Amino acid sequence: MCLAVTDNHSCLIATLYICNQNKLAINYSENILSTPIEFLKGVGPIRGDLLKKDLNIYTFEDLLGHFPFRHIDKTKVNSIADIHTDTDFIQVIGRLTHLEAIGEGRGRRLVGQLQDGTGVLELAWFQSINWVEKNLVLGSRYLVYGRTGVFNNKPQMVHPEMELFVPAQQGAKNFLEPVYPSTEKLKARNLGGRQLAALTKQLFLQLKQKDIPENIPRDVLGALRLMSRCEAYEKIHFPTSPEEYERALNRLKFEEFFIAQVRLSLIRLQRHKSSKGVLFEKVGDHFNDFYNNHLPFELTNAQKRVLKEIRQDTARGHQMNRLLQGDVGSGKTIVALLSMLLAADNGYQSCIMAPTEILAQQHYTGLGELLKEMPLNIRILTGSTKAKERRAIHAALLDGSLHFLVGTHALIEDTVQFKNLGFVVVDEQHRFGVAQRAKLRDKAAVPPHILVMTATPIPRTLAMTAYGDLDYSVMDELPPGRKPILTVHRDEMARASVMEFIREEVGKGRQAYIIYPLIDESEKVSYEDLMQGYEQVKSFFPEPTYLISMVHGRQPADMKQTNMDRFVNGETNIMVSTTVIEVGVNVPNASVMVIESSEKFGLSQLHQLRGRVGRGSEKSFCILLTSQKVSKEGRERIKVMCATNDGFKIAEKDLELRGPGDIEGTRQSGALNFKLVSLVNDRQVLESAKQWAEEVVTTDEKLEMAENLPLRNFLQQQKGKTGWSKIA
Ligand code: ADP
Ligand code: MG
Repeated sequence: MCLAVTDNHSCLIATLYICNQNKLAINYSENILSTPIEFLKGVGPIRGDLLKKDLNIYTFEDLLGHFPFRHIDKTKVNSIADIHTDTDFIQVIGRLTHLEAIGEGRGRRLVGQLQDGTGVLELAWFQSINWVEKNLVLGSRYLVYGRTGVFNNKPQMVHPEMELFVPAQQGAKNFLEPVYPSTEKLKARNLGGRQLAALTKQLFLQLKQKDIPENIPRDVLGALRLMSRCEAYEKIHFPTSPEEYERALNRLKFEEFFIAQVRLSLIRLQRHKSSKGVLFEKVGDHFNDFYNNHLPFELTNAQKRVLKEIRQDTARGHQMNRLLQGDVGSGKTIVALLSMLLAADNGYQSCIMAPTEILAQQHYTGLGELLKEMPLNIRILTGSTKAKERRAIHAALLDGSLHFLVGTHALIEDTVQFKNLGFVVVDEQHRFGVAQRAKLRDKAAVPPHILVMTATPIPRTLAMTAYGDLDYSVMDELPPGRKPILTVHRDEMARASVMEFIREEVGKGRQAYIIYPLIDESEKVSYEDLMQGYEQVKSFFPEPTYLISMVHGRQPADMKQTNMDRFVNGETNIMVSTTVIEVGVNVPNASVMVIESSEKFGLSQLHQLRGRVGRGSEKSFCILLTSQKVSKEGRERIKVMCATNDGFKIAEKDLELRGPGDIEGTRQSGALNFKLVSLVNDRQVLESAKQWAEEVVTTDEKLEMAENLPLRNFLQQQKGKTGWSKIA
């Protein structure tokens, strides 16, 4: 669902909202943390510029937030003799016995030698050579830190961090020194990890506890035994033990997600309050009659839960904007229908929009069947509806005798006017844009409730963030008795036996899909692949014994439709197609899905395609064909597909493999850029932060209770600071 909210905008809403509640503005300009970095003792304008340019450190606060990526135990010093080919970072103490610039032009470099009595370590610099040479003192003892390698059989360190060795320093016990991300250039300019540590230490000398004020309510801190914010910042840089570091990290991760969730909750709350919506006061006869007498099966618990959520939403007088995620086949349609009955019980009309005509037709047929004994009218309106029929529908919508309208998205583009539209279902699409929503608003005095349904599962952690300001339901349960689809991997050498298998299934009266990757419909190569594939399939399955449908994006719409219809109606045995059939098509008699070059597809697409089979009473099969050589990631995807049918598990894996920014539907969501929190690995922290954020916001939405004041102050101060872009 696309509430294209820019974060600045959403932050602003949240902040304005809070400001309006209370005029207590705090002047944060006095905060020392906003001091420009050049004013930190030991920085100055030149190093200040370097820090800005190379590390984006502009203020004291930026330095405070430049976290170490690891710590080294400073008391742990190795001998040069300890260095092996697989030694990683190491710290040694030795005397600089040689230093010489050699080579010319681009080959020019500085080489040195360090000796510690156990061996000789070769040192090398390729950048800022003059500067380094000038600053090192031949013959002095140095504490040297860096990543080692073995070059020409000799241990070597490139661009090491060099610090004059002062024996007194070594007294500290169990002292962990932070190692910061830096650049070669900065290292060479004496702004490597060690120097950043020194600057950070300096910063802490200048900071007082009040400069890093708490932003998590006291009782939350207490319940979770979290470190204070001030302590956490100090300990993430300078812990005295690995455990302490973990606690500091954990606190800051919690904070990061907690603040984000509080913000989203406030926006959601604000939207609920400001958006007027139609009121569904009662559950009436239509709903009850259908539920008790015509519902063909028992609802799953997930379906019941979602219905309850919708019932609650629509009984408040505010507009519902709900995204319903349910795996392929989880039974979203019946939830939509029951909601539409609820609308009818309260005197409102509903419409359901599908992305394609084929799907609209299927909904119309399916819903019509379910409603056939109910005193309710349902019609379909698409681009191909004849003028006369169209006029009749328009009239029936206006006089209120038509209760349910099924159609494509063109439905809202059309000049259609309703008497009293109260409920809109958008199927198989999670982007339902602002513009479309605005059109809906024009169709009714009070905006109708919107239920957007999608079968592309995204992991919960991602959804919490990407859709955190919307109402969001999940159906993570399939109706009982489904036969799991058996998925196997075959390489292309086995194609003949795969075709043989299709022949067997077709012989039993089943139908099969064979899908080709035509990623870009205009792409010539894959188009030729498809045609070649088609010819090949034809030679395996000659007419007139077998009939084949082919559908791809280059066909005119009516040809596509005809070919599709023939397969849907069981007139053809095999459907050769590109991914145009991906979404929603329901042919229960199809039992085989063959995906050619399946290594080229993403996980969610593979899962969607597979969802085209396994819809009937027969056992179904998905065969993933690949070439013989498949990349490691490709193999991983195939493995996941063979191992599970669970869309949410697949989505989790997808998140692991590709990262949050690449998951369908969240691509543009900058809201996913967390600094510390990983949406893959920190699920527990995320869940708990979300729960607490909701608890805080629901019990004290104005954040005016004493324990929530620090949080409110923090949000005010943060106004406009974060750079989220779009919430999908
Ligand atoms: P999707 O969530 O993919 O849109 P559908 O709504 O098309 O799924 O439902 C898939 C199939 O499952 C339909 O044939 C539907 O009748 C059936 N179905 C839905 N809910 C249940 C249930 N609770 N028990 C048994 N079958 C169900
Ligand atoms: Mg569906």
